[in-house]
Amino acid sequence: MDVGRLRADTPGCARVAHLNNAGAALPPRPVLEAVTGHLELEATIGGYEAAEQEKDAIEHFYDAIAGLIGARADEIAYVENATRAWDMAFYAIPFAEGDRILTTSGEYSSNAIAYRQVAAAKGARVEVVPDGPDGAISLPALEAELAKGGVRLVSLNHVPTHNGLVNPAAEVGRLCGDHGVLYLLDACQSVGQLAVDVREIGCDMLSATGRKFLRGPRGTGFLYVRREIVPTLEPPFLDLHAAAWRAPDYVPRPDARRFETWERFVAGQLGLAAAAGYAAALGMDEIEKRVTALAAALRAGLAARPGTSVLDRGTHRSGIVTFTVDGHEPQAIRRIAREHGINVNVSNPAAHGYDPDAVPAAVRASVHYYNTEEELDRLLAALP
Ligand SMILES: *Cc1c(COP(=O)(O)O)cnc(C)c1O
Repeated sequence: MDVGRLRADTPGCARVAHLNNAGAALPPRPVLEAVTGHLELEATIGGYEAAEQEKDAIEHFYDAIAGLIGARADEIAYVENATRAWDMAFYAIPFAEGDRILTTSGEYSSNAIAYRQVAAAKGARVEVVPDGPDGAISLPALEAELAKGGVRLVSLNHVPTHNGLVNPAAEVGRLCGDHGVLYLLDACQSVGQLAVDVREIGCDMLSATGRKFLRGPRGTGFLYVRREIVPTLEPPFLDLHAAAWRAPDYVPRPDARRFETWERFVAGQLGLAAAAGYAAALGMDEIEKRVTALAAALRAGLAARPGTSVLDRGTHRSGIVTFTVDGHEPQAIRRIAREHGINVNVSNPAAHGYDPDAVPAAVRASVHYYNTEEELDRLLAALP
């Protein structure tokens, strides 16, 4: 990987050591140009006219995202963020009284809130599958729960926001397949940093955001729904794009675009397509290798410092590194890093409500392939 060229292609690299890629990564120039170019076109010739002129490029979005995750174009929906993409799939599932929803301790709180809401409205039951010894979902425990029957949905995140681990998504997929149970994967933190292939994973639905490791614009995301189950999922909201109005009734679209709305951030959609193409051209395997290596180097550097604790769990680890420094609040460390031109974040305990091992707050440094070893050293040197 030609890191020098990739950094030259990333305007932000000249200004800051950006270690907040799990928050929002720095977009590369082609993404920036796709967004600003379309905003300018809209301002120059009119929004509808600009969309008409860029019709093919907008249509290419579906191929670009499908290509990145091993899906088919008709299985992709463009949604304004990962939360809404996930919601459109989750709230489309026809839950019944007593249905079991299985999730993990590292679940994202927005998803946990949705489970509770559906549990209250439909009488479904939410159950947290125990962790294995390394902190990831326990596959034997999951298998035992599936064997008891009554499971309507297995739903978890691929990479939690806060503890550095990667869940065994494909092994979970095999178990769900064996038991014929729906599988929803929140891939918000994995798409763009790990090679994600929906057929290999075996998920029925997958949500992701644009701005994190994918390096797309803020306010963008997408949903994948397996072609065979699209007809079984009626989205909670439908507009005249998602369904055809045939007075006095309507017919939902046959493809995944039933999960979309007509009105959208078109410039963002073009930017997200550019981001997907950029990642695919670099190669997701290469990206994963470099992100994993940089994160391992940072953990080793942190672990060697007295008074610094690396909190990450999992046998398979992501580009998200969490740590604390004795006697210093995570927010203070974030401020100190900022003063040194380094962006890190503080993980928010309210984002991962079920986790029994979560500390009240930790510094989160999340690396991307365009970061350098020198930037990691700068962070280590800046820490109190
Ligand atoms: C960030 C995040 C989300 C939410 O994504 P948005 O694009 O902000 O809606 C969901 N799940 C996980 C695991 C995340 O890290």
